[in-house]
Amino acid sequence: MYTEDDYLMLSGIQHFYFCKRQWALIHIEQSWLENSHTVEGQILHEKTDNPFIKESRKEIFLSRSVPVSSAILGLSGIIDTIEFRKDEEGIRIPGKTGIWKPTIVEYKKGKQKKDDRDIIQLAAQTMCLEEKLNIKIETSDMFYFKTRQRKTVSIDESIRKEVLEMSQKMHEMYNQQYTPKAEFFKNCKECSLYELCMPRITKKRKSVENYLYNIEE
Ligand code: SF4
Repeated sequence: MYTEDDYLMLSGIQHFYFCKRQWALIHIEQSWLENSHTVEGQILHEKTDNPFIKESRKEIFLSRSVPVSSAILGLSGIIDTIEFRKDEEGIRIPGKTGIWKPTIVEYKKGKQKKDDRDIIQLAAQTMCLEEKLNIKIETSDMFYFKTRQRKTVSIDESIRKEVLEMSQKMHEMYNQQYTPKAEFFKNCKECSLYELCMPRITKKRKSVENYLYNIEE
């Protein structure tokens, strides 16, 4: 169990999945360069609107920008949108009559990614919300603006285990204030920190320095 002082940013888990060095540059060294991907993403998050749901419907309501945290994961952050539907498997909500079942709706600007970074983040959000509401949540949703697709994701035991292990590694690296070396790989081409990281040059420079000073890599 972590205390509030130890909490790391929930949104960082997608950076950690994408590249551990990127996560360390942002969350340990506080470096941040905006590129078109991050700026567009922020604008969409500010304007999130679910085209399938009207908030006035009696059996559904939305909660936006909901703060959540998990003492088990040691993460805290904000969930864009939680959709509550009247359902006997749900919970009571102060100020509302009836029983309501929550579903997270996470908005992404592009289309579904080839890797699982969005799903890892959604699973971490789900585990945080479960702790907040003291409820088991089996699925959460992703909405992709580019393809206008809403996808339901099963938050199964294997993804929960992955989130738990990843959050533990994040805390270990954070406690050691450890930033991994640059290493050029496929994700570098779409990395928002490419110019700051310079993976090809940094790697080369390190190799030359190591050769000159007889340091083993
Ligand atoms: S440029 Fe590559 S190595 Fe550097 S932070 Fe980005 S993804 Fe990681």
